[in-house]
Amino acid sequence: MSPSSPQIDEENSVTLVLRSVRLVGGGDLPMDVVVEGDRIAGIVPAGQAPTDDAEAIDLAGRWVMPGLADNHAHFTTWAHHLARLDVSGTREPEEAAERVREALSASPPSEATFVGRGFQDALWSREATGTMLDDAAGDAGHAGRPVVLYAHDLHTVWINAAAAERFGAPHAGLVREAPAFAIEKAADLEASARDDEVVAAALAAAAARGVTRVSDMHMADNPLVWQGRFARGMDSVRIVANVYLEHLGVAAGRGQRTGDVVPGTAGMVTVGSLKLISDGALNSGTALCHDADLNGSHGHAEYTEEELHRILRDADAAGFTIALHAIGDLAVARALDAFEATGARGTIEHAQLVADEDLARFAELGVIAAVHPEHLLDDRDVTDRLWAGRTRRAFPYRALQEAGATLTFGSDAPVAPLDPWLAIAAAVFRTRDGREPWEIDNALDVRTALEASWVAPELEVGGAADLVVTDVDPFVADVETMRAMPVALTVCAGRVTYQAS
Ligand SMILES: [Zn+2]
Repeated sequence: MSPSSPQIDEENSVTLVLRSVRLVGGGDLPMDVVVEGDRIAGIVPAGQAPTDDAEAIDLAGRWVMPGLADNHAHFTTWAHHLARLDVSGTREPEEAAERVREALSASPPSEATFVGRGFQDALWSREATGTMLDDAAGDAGHAGRPVVLYAHDLHTVWINAAAAERFGAPHAGLVREAPAFAIEKAADLEASARDDEVVAAALAAAAARGVTRVSDMHMADNPLVWQGRFARGMDSVRIVANVYLEHLGVAAGRGQRTGDVVPGTAGMVTVGSLKLISDGALNSGTALCHDADLNGSHGHAEYTEEELHRILRDADAAGFTIALHAIGDLAVARALDAFEATGARGTIEHAQLVADEDLARFAELGVIAAVHPEHLLDDRDVTDRLWAGRTRRAFPYRALQEAGATLTFGSDAPVAPLDPWLAIAAAVFRTRDGREPWEIDNALDVRTALEASWVAPELEVGGAADLVVTDVDPFVADVETMRAMPVALTVCAGRVTYQAS
């Protein structure tokens, strides 16, 4: 990062001064960062920034760096997930019911279905009954209120009698598979009335982790969705609004192309990529792989190669880059082939298994490896089992970097929490919870991991005032500190979007 003298325009006035911050990776000297409007106007030795009018925040030698991006989140789904009571880790159903009682005791009366998430009834010794949830609601002064708890894997719901009645379920208690999906769908639809409320809370939570930009992969006409949200005041995080095939024609019909600013959003929302899913997933055994699994399956290909090339060619002609989901090594190879054959530009999302001969093709074709490092920790055991003998090539971040690929990080929230520090820590340490690091040869250095999350390569005079200030220098943080990185301040487009109290 390059300190430089203030280039403060006479026409503009200083709107914000960050006093006494040290530039991450830029030495120990405390600096003042001067902001005018949405730009950085100067980075000067501490004490030399102008003092008039502007809001000044003394950061006492803390660490400043570019704001953080989450390059892959299903934001609306995440927002609802975040708003729901977490009953994960409960050892018996009574403990989950007690959490419901506590949460309801603290909430105002409502007719709305109360939703929680995250239980694993396979780990319980006692049967979860509808009565337990009826009693919990009644004790909390919410008698007759429907309660629905989603299991961690979403294939089971636990409901009370009021929920069984509201959703026409066969019975209260545990409901599995198709009837469970029907209840989840109905409860999700009911909850969509609260979209704005939960999205506003999730944006604030993202800013509290230093996030200034989110690439939204929710299955919706995202440019339109976010245009509406910005008009209703949800404007604290920059949004890259991606579209799926079903919305591509609609977006193109509005004259939109990748990178265009969405009208009415002050440049904060831009049109993203066409999001395309080309194979399945690791856990379900449907990632498309060169090697057959124990059942002789190579996984699932959503498209033939001809179809894939046609879609990429059409999207490229319409002015869209492609965010191409490819998890298995054969899916990654075909994705690279498709970019090469069509000249389309974009990212390969996930790239969880990569053949050695394909590593260098990312850089050659200018295809970005858009990866989700927290998944490597969630999935290390299942990877050891399903990709035994191939784990050296799994989540191969160092190998990709050494082959010249550009890496970007995302959370894939709600699959992992929307928190870039988890991704950075996972990529650097490849462990959590005190376990042995997994396939440590593919760990990244701290700088590369930070750069994969930063919204810009560095803070620079004239650049956007999107930045985050932390209590700890990430270059010296251990794994637990990195995961829980204490954020002091977040600024997006020159505005303070989070300040620790
Ligand atoms: Zn995703």
